[in-house]
Amino acid sequence: MKIALIAHDKKKNEIIELAKKYKNVLAKYELYATGTTGTLIMGETGLSIKRMKSGPLGGDQQIGAMLANGELELIIFLRDPLTAQPHEPDVSALLRLCDVQKIPLATNVSSATIMLDALKDRRFFDLVED
Ligand code: PGA
Repeated sequence: MKIALIAHDKKKNEIIELAKKYKNVLAKYELYATGTTGTLIMGETGLSIKRMKSGPLGGDQQIGAMLANGELELIIFLRDPLTAQPHEPDVSALLRLCDVQKIPLATNVSSATIMLDALKDRRFFDLVED
Protein backbone atom coordinates (compact mmCIF):
# COMPACT_ATOMS: atom_id res chain seq x y z
CA MET A 1 0.00 0.00 0.00
CA LYS A 2 1.26 3.45 -0.92
CA ILE A 3 0.55 6.57 1.13
CA ALA A 4 1.29 10.19 0.20
CA LEU A 5 2.05 12.85 2.81
CA ILE A 6 1.87 16.56 2.00
CA ALA A 7 1.64 19.65 4.20
CA HIS A 8 1.60 23.33 3.44
CA ASP A 9 4.24 25.33 5.29
CA LYS A 10 2.10 26.38 8.25
CA LYS A 11 1.00 22.76 8.69
CA LYS A 12 4.47 21.20 8.60
CA ASN A 13 4.67 20.95 12.40
CA GLU A 14 1.31 19.18 12.52
CA ILE A 15 2.32 16.58 9.95
CA ILE A 16 5.62 15.97 11.74
CA GLU A 17 3.81 15.38 15.04
CA LEU A 18 1.34 13.09 13.25
CA ALA A 19 4.15 11.13 11.61
CA LYS A 20 5.90 10.75 14.97
CA LYS A 21 2.71 9.53 16.64
CA TYR A 22 1.95 7.02 13.87
CA LYS A 23 5.51 6.16 12.95
CA ASN A 24 5.05 2.44 13.56
CA VAL A 25 1.90 2.37 11.43
CA LEU A 26 3.40 4.43 8.60
CA ALA A 27 6.60 2.36 8.61
CA LYS A 28 4.62 -0.64 7.30
CA TYR A 29 3.74 1.13 4.06
CA GLU A 30 5.43 2.68 1.06
CA LEU A 31 5.56 6.41 1.72
CA TYR A 32 5.68 9.28 -0.74
CA ALA A 33 5.76 13.01 -0.06
CA THR A 34 6.32 16.37 -1.64
CA GLY A 35 9.92 17.55 -1.30
CA THR A 36 10.04 19.68 1.81
CA THR A 37 7.42 17.72 3.70
CA GLY A 38 9.30 14.49 3.01
CA THR A 39 12.67 15.89 4.05
CA LEU A 40 11.29 17.21 7.34
CA ILE A 41 9.42 14.01 8.24
CA MET A 42 12.42 11.83 7.41
CA GLY A 43 14.67 14.05 9.52
CA GLU A 44 12.32 13.98 12.51
CA THR A 45 11.21 10.33 12.39
CA GLY A 46 13.77 8.34 10.41
CA LEU A 47 10.93 7.00 8.22
CA SER A 48 11.90 6.14 4.66
CA ILE A 49 10.02 8.34 2.18
CA LYS A 50 10.24 8.72 -1.58
CA ARG A 51 10.31 12.44 -2.25
CA MET A 52 8.81 14.24 -5.19
CA LYS A 53 9.61 17.82 -6.14
CA SER A 54 8.53 20.52 -3.75
CA GLY A 55 4.80 21.24 -4.06
CA PRO A 56 5.09 24.68 -5.68
CA LEU A 57 7.62 23.24 -8.16
CA GLY A 58 5.37 20.43 -9.38
CA GLY A 59 5.37 17.93 -6.51
CA ASP A 60 1.59 18.01 -6.15
CA GLN A 61 1.29 17.25 -9.85
CA GLN A 62 3.67 14.32 -9.50
CA ILE A 63 1.53 12.93 -6.68
CA GLY A 64 -1.49 13.62 -8.91
CA ALA A 65 0.05 11.56 -11.71
CA MET A 66 0.47 8.65 -9.31
CA LEU A 67 -3.18 9.03 -8.31
CA ALA A 68 -4.28 9.05 -11.95
CA ASN A 69 -2.36 5.82 -12.47
CA GLY A 70 -4.09 4.21 -9.47
CA GLU A 71 -0.82 4.00 -7.57
CA LEU A 72 -1.83 5.58 -4.25
CA GLU A 73 -4.28 4.32 -1.65
CA LEU A 74 -4.32 7.11 0.94
CA ILE A 75 -3.46 10.81 0.86
CA ILE A 76 -2.80 12.96 3.89
CA PHE A 77 -2.64 16.53 2.72
CA LEU A 78 -2.66 19.03 5.56
CA ARG A 79 -3.75 22.19 3.81
CA ASP A 80 -3.42 25.73 5.06
CA PRO A 81 -6.86 27.23 4.42
CA LEU A 82 -5.79 30.71 5.52
CA THR A 83 -2.87 31.39 3.20
CA ALA A 84 -2.97 31.86 -0.58
CA GLN A 85 -0.81 29.27 -2.35
CA PRO A 86 0.99 30.05 -5.62
CA HIS A 87 0.23 26.52 -6.82
CA GLU A 88 -3.47 26.52 -5.88
CA PRO A 89 -4.47 25.03 -9.28
CA ASP A 90 -2.21 22.03 -8.59
CA VAL A 91 -3.72 21.64 -5.13
CA SER A 92 -7.27 21.69 -6.53
CA ALA A 93 -6.34 19.20 -9.23
CA LEU A 94 -4.92 16.81 -6.65
CA LEU A 95 -8.02 16.98 -4.47
CA ARG A 96 -10.23 16.47 -7.51
CA LEU A 97 -8.31 13.37 -8.58
CA CYS A 98 -8.79 11.84 -5.13
CA ASP A 99 -12.53 12.14 -5.67
CA VAL A 100 -12.30 10.80 -9.22
CA GLN A 101 -10.42 7.74 -7.96
CA LYS A 102 -12.34 7.49 -4.65
CA ILE A 103 -9.08 7.65 -2.74
CA PRO A 104 -9.35 8.50 0.98
CA LEU A 105 -8.07 12.02 1.52
CA ALA A 106 -7.45 13.75 4.84
CA THR A 107 -7.02 17.52 4.61
CA ASN A 108 -6.69 18.26 8.32
CA VAL A 109 -5.11 16.60 11.31
CA SER A 110 -8.41 15.36 12.79
CA SER A 111 -9.45 13.44 9.69
CA ALA A 112 -5.87 12.19 9.26
CA THR A 113 -5.95 10.82 12.82
CA ILE A 114 -9.17 8.93 12.13
CA MET A 115 -7.71 7.41 8.96
CA LEU A 116 -4.42 6.43 10.59
CA ASP A 117 -6.28 4.91 13.54
CA ALA A 118 -8.32 2.85 11.07
CA LEU A 119 -5.08 1.77 9.42
CA LYS A 120 -3.59 0.88 12.79
CA ASP A 121 -6.62 -1.23 13.73
CA ARG A 122 -6.64 -2.80 10.28
CA ARG A 123 -10.25 -1.61 9.79
CA PHE A 124 -9.18 0.69 6.99
CA PHE A 125 -9.54 -1.88 4.24
CA ASP A 126 -13.00 -2.95 5.44
CA LEU A 127 -14.15 0.66 5.36
CA VAL A 128 -12.80 1.63 1.95
CA GLU A 129 -14.90 0.83 -1.09
CA ASP A 130 -13.19 -1.12 -3.88
P1 PGA B 1 6.45 20.91 0.11
O1 PGA B 1 5.16 21.04 -0.78
O2 PGA B 1 6.31 19.66 0.91
O3 PGA B 1 7.59 20.80 -0.86
O4 PGA B 1 6.52 22.12 0.96
C1 PGA B 1 3.89 21.01 -0.18
C2 PGA B 1 2.94 21.85 -0.96
O5 PGA B 1 2.96 23.07 -0.79
O6 PGA B 1 2.15 21.33 -1.75
